[in-house]
Amino acid sequence: MGKKHLRAFAALGLLISFCSVALTSCTQNSEVQTSKCNDAPISVLATINQWGSLAKQIGGACVQVDSVISSPSQDPHEYEPNATDIAKFSNSKLIIINGAGYDEWAIKAQNQSGSNAKIINVGQINNVEQGANPHLFYSLKYIEKAAENINVSLSEIDSNLKDYFEKNYNETIEKYYALDKKISVEKEKSNSKKVGVSESVANYLLEEYGFKNLTPQGFAQSVANEGEVSANDLNSFSQLINGKKINLFIENIQEENNTTDQLVNLAKKNKIPIIKVTESMDENFGYPDIWLASIIENINSAIK
Ligand SMILES: [Zn+2]
Repeated sequence: MGKKHLRAFAALGLLISFCSVALTSCTQNSEVQTSKCNDAPISVLATINQWGSLAKQIGGACVQVDSVISSPSQDPHEYEPNATDIAKFSNSKLIIINGAGYDEWAIKAQNQSGSNAKIINVGQINNVEQGANPHLFYSLKYIEKAAENINVSLSEIDSNLKDYFEKNYNETIEKYYALDKKISVEKEKSNSKKVGVSESVANYLLEEYGFKNLTPQGFAQSVANEGEVSANDLNSFSQLINGKKINLFIENIQEENNTTDQLVNLAKKNKIPIIKVTESMDENFGYPDIWLASIIENINSAIK
């Protein structure tokens, strides 16, 4: 075997081991790449990678997805787009915006770009009003609707690929049904359990579980408005924890400060399970269903 062949063989070995990890996507992608996808993939732009990776799951090999915010080191609430981000709006065929006031900058950029891309505003399609909890990517229900819209929009952009997108969409939706099932099997337990949260990021998921959220309203409001938490509200929350009135404490590790540290320490002292969550998805998770699955596993084992 010559050197060149050896190298090719080694590369093949790598490819095989990679494919055995992600077997389905590998076979799908290669099948389509050779037979169906156009030379230029459909360009998709998402404001955050939760929606971007959902689009990648459905668009597969036939889309090129770009997510503006794709790391937990960026705060989506404070995000200011740069010129490169804005230019991407004119070059995309499908744009996915979270909506509900989360990424207003994207709506402006889209309007300025004058592009005629298809737009999916996840808040709008789910009738979530401006000012409501914007963390829609923590709701299986809202994700389902987003997936449905992505499938339809991609098929409208290229009707020749309709069957391919439909197949990917069905596989994607199955994964969310499986997650939903993991929640429903614990319903009997979760319906009688109470939670406290350092920040609202995972609240939709907690609602889908049926947990009762006892976070003092004043506390939640101050955090949402990025204001100072009053001594009174902090005291009420501390009492809930010290009195073991909550069964779970949800900590958004992307929004930590002295107040949350204090509450986390109290929860530890009182042996209340702490579930760590983030606002943004780490790219290592690849897809939002895997990201959410890990959080759901943690919650399920904490309430066992
Ligand atoms: Zn947030």
